[in-house]
Formats: sequence, structure tokens, C-alpha cells
Amino acid sequence: MIIDGKSIAADIRQEIKSQVDEFTKKTNVKPGLAVILVGENPASLVYVSQKEKACDEVGIASLKVVLPESIPQEELEMKVEELNNEPAIHGILVQLPLPDHLDEKKIIEKISPEKDVDGFHPVNVGRLVVGEETFVPCTPQGVIELIERSNIEIEGKRAVVVGRSNIVGKPVALLLLQKNATVTICHTRTRNLPEITNQAEILIAAAGKPHLIKADMVKDGACVIDVGINRVDGKLVGDVDFEEVEKKAIVTPVPGGVGPMTVVMLLKNTLQAAKWIVEGEKK
Ligand code: NDP
Repeated sequence: MIIDGKSIAADIRQEIKSQVDEFTKKTNVKPGLAVILVGENPASLVYVSQKEKACDEVGIASLKVVLPESIPQEELEMKVEELNNEPAIHGILVQLPLPDHLDEKKIIEKISPEKDVDGFHPVNVGRLVVGEETFVPCTPQGVIELIERSNIEIEGKRAVVVGRSNIVGKPVALLLLQKNATVTICHTRTRNLPEITNQAEILIAAAGKPHLIKADMVKDGACVIDVGINRVDGKLVGDVDFEEVEKKAIVTPVPGGVGPMTVVMLLKNTLQAAKWIVEGEKK
């Protein structure tokens, strides 16, 4: 079976659109997302325009802040501060990666945790770890939605995450744990990876290595979520050997799996930010 991320994402987008309409009618406020883009990284330009388009489709106002590649650290920090204080903006996102002379960590820490819709600020990471309500990073949140909306139970399952980055691997593992899976995290120093992945009823591949996960590393009937995006000979491929694994497991394709979910989760987080700021709903 194939999990169709594109169609699940389209359903969620519709749901968000009606929630945004309802919120705007009730409060007279349009949720607003500021996306800061420094320089002209071609991939970043594409991602930012996808985000703008997605906002537009659901009734979220987007503000693209384009800054020169050479911008000094202090000026970028001032820009973030300005947006922190801008009442029409409820979510702030800094498109990564930033040029080398800029300190990414410091910039993220400048974003008000209440507007940090990417969920990368250490305060929000901490809230996630202790299980408080917070902004959950978009890709990991998309992974969980894909599993749940495919009616796959997480509780009690043996879950294996391949990858331990702060953006994907660690938060996915935390979310699975919160949902009561028994979680193992693998990385480059893991010994005998196939032995561990073979035990997984839910397997998350987030290594950024094309076709790392072969069919003989996957348990029959497992749910395999492929987060990887790799370009091989001009073609996008995941971390999973899709053709072979598809024969024995439930799997997400690349493209059309996790990718479309990430942008939709950003919309969800932006609406959440607006609700928390305007209605003070947060516990
Ligand atoms: P990172 O490079 O930051 O992390 C990769 C992780 O995988 C590391 O923890 C690394 O281990 C581990 N790893 C690498 N090779 C192996 C291996 N052979 N065996 C076991 N573990 C391995 O990547 P990200 O987490 O940022 O992204 C992962 C993938 O997901 C990439 O392909 C990226 O493009 C994609 N991605 C997709 C998104 C989407 O929207 N679909 C969003 C974000 C990312 P170690 O820590 O030991 O180095």
C-alpha cells in the first residue's frame, strides 16, 4: 500500500482553510506569516514561493521579507525583533540555510517563542521534550499526521527512526514516544542497522541517503515513512528503495509523501500562533 501524502495534505489544507475563515470571521484578524529570505539560494526561493502560495490558498496573509546576502548579523536580528513587535504578524520563519557569515542559532533564538512557527526555538524544543503544548516542527508533525490519517495505530508499536537531526529525527522520535510507541533512534554509529530496522512496525527514514533502506531491512507489513529528499541524476528519490519495499510494506513515495505535508503543517502552526496571540487560548 502507498500512503498518498499529496491527497492527505490536500484534505488538511481544506480543513485549515475553513478554520482560518472561522477565526477571521470571529476575530476580524487574518493570521499573518512573515518569511525571511536572506540572499538568493535557488532552493530557498522555491520553498519560500511555495509557502506564500499555500498561505494565499487558505486565507493566511504572508509577508516575504527579502534581505541581501551580505546583511550583517545585527541588522538581521533587528529585522526579527521588528517582526516580533508587529501585531499583524503571528508567525515568523527564517528560511534556512543562512549564508555562512550569519549565526543561525542566534537568529532563531531572537524569534519570539510565541511566533516561532517552525518550532526551532530552544524554548519550544524544551516544551516538546516535556510534553507541553507548543509549536511542533512541521516535517515531524507531518510524519505523525500521515501515519494517523492512514489509520495506523502508534500506541504500543515498535518504532525505529533512522536519523537524529534536531529538525527531523529527534522531534519525530519524541512525538512517537508521546504517542506511546517504543522508540529506537539510529544514526551513523549504530551497529547492525538492518537488525534494528527489521524489528520496526513503524520505520521512519530520515538519513538523507538515497536508497539506504532496502527491502531486506524492512519487516513484512511495516509502515515506512520516507522523509529523505535526495537528488540522484536529476531525479528526486527518498531514503527508501521504494520499488522493492512497496511490495512488502505500507510506504510513502518521494515525491508526494512527506514533502506536501510540511507546508501544510506550517499553515496549521501559523493559525495556531494567531489563535494563541489573539485569543490567548494557550494553556
Ligand atoms: P541531517 O543530515 O541533518 O541528518 C541525517 C541523520 O541521519 C544524522 O543523524 C545521521 O547520523 C543519520 N544518518 C546518515 N547516514 C546514515 C546511515 N548510513 N545510517 C544511519 N544513520 C545515518 O538531515 P535532516 O535530518 O535535516 O534531513 C534528513 C533527510 O530528510 C534529508 O534527505 C532531507 O533533505 C530530508 N528532509 C525532508 C523534508 C521534507 O519536507 N520532506 C524536510 C526536512 C528534511 P549522525 O547524526 O551520526 O551523523
